[in-house]
Amino acid sequence: MRVSRLLLYPMAAVAAAASLAFFPGASRAADKPKAEAHGAPAAGHAPHWEYKGEAGAENWGKLAEEFATCRTGAKQSPINIISSATATQPRLDFRYQPSSLRIVNNGHTIQVNYDPGSTLVIDSQVYQLLQFHFHTPSEHMLQGKAYDMEAHFVHRNAEGKLAVVGVMLKAGADNGFVNTLWANMPKAAGPEKVVDGVTIDAQVLLPERRTYFLYSGSLTTPPCSEEVRWQVFQDPIEVSAGQVAAFKQLFPMNARPVQPLKSRAVTAVSAR
Ligand SMILES: [Zn+2]
Repeated sequence: MRVSRLLLYPMAAVAAAASLAFFPGASRAADKPKAEAHGAPAAGHAPHWEYKGEAGAENWGKLAEEFATCRTGAKQSPINIISSATATQPRLDFRYQPSSLRIVNNGHTIQVNYDPGSTLVIDSQVYQLLQFHFHTPSEHMLQGKAYDMEAHFVHRNAEGKLAVVGVMLKAGADNGFVNTLWANMPKAAGPEKVVDGVTIDAQVLLPERRTYFLYSGSLTTPPCSEEVRWQVFQDPIEVSAGQVAAFKQLFPMNARPVQPLKSRAVTAVSAR
């Protein structure tokens, strides 16, 4: 997807990313400007999926031909992260700006769609921050340990390649930023809600220390498209137990189980 398309069709771009339905070509997104998040009524809809039961994660690959990669892929996410190599590059250069608060309950998670202009630069590749959203419990595990929640920051570069940053959330101190989000999160699936007069900065959800795990994986929701560049921070941030519970009231469990590593390597990058 080209930047010009992103600018021309911001809603389509956001909606595609919202559902994490990854359309490799810009024309597809342009053809479907009304593509909506999973859970919301949409024309030309993706098949219904859930986390448990007959349409649950174990069966995603059988629900539709377009979900086949969920079953047949060799680079699926999430994984249990056990690093096999270390490096000091590349560093993650977050250039996030404040954004208006645009929040949506898409039936699978609470997602915050981010205003254009915030980027993550990796190895001089520029990725735009499209949105961030939450899972409970965490999808990735760090050395076999799951956390209470995990936040995913979804970025895309001019060629349409995705880079997702994962941040573990563990129960501890109350998080003021999360309070702002939760106070405005729609209780039922529906369209994006624009909150007047509230400005947010996603940067505050990132841990201070920049050590992260790098590996090549996939979307963790159907259609499980591969070639996602994953960066998962080693350090968690804290939210209160009450904040975890408030999210679980809407989404008791919205995490895909860990997938086989197969022939992939995971690198621990301790960039400063
Ligand atoms: Zn996610």
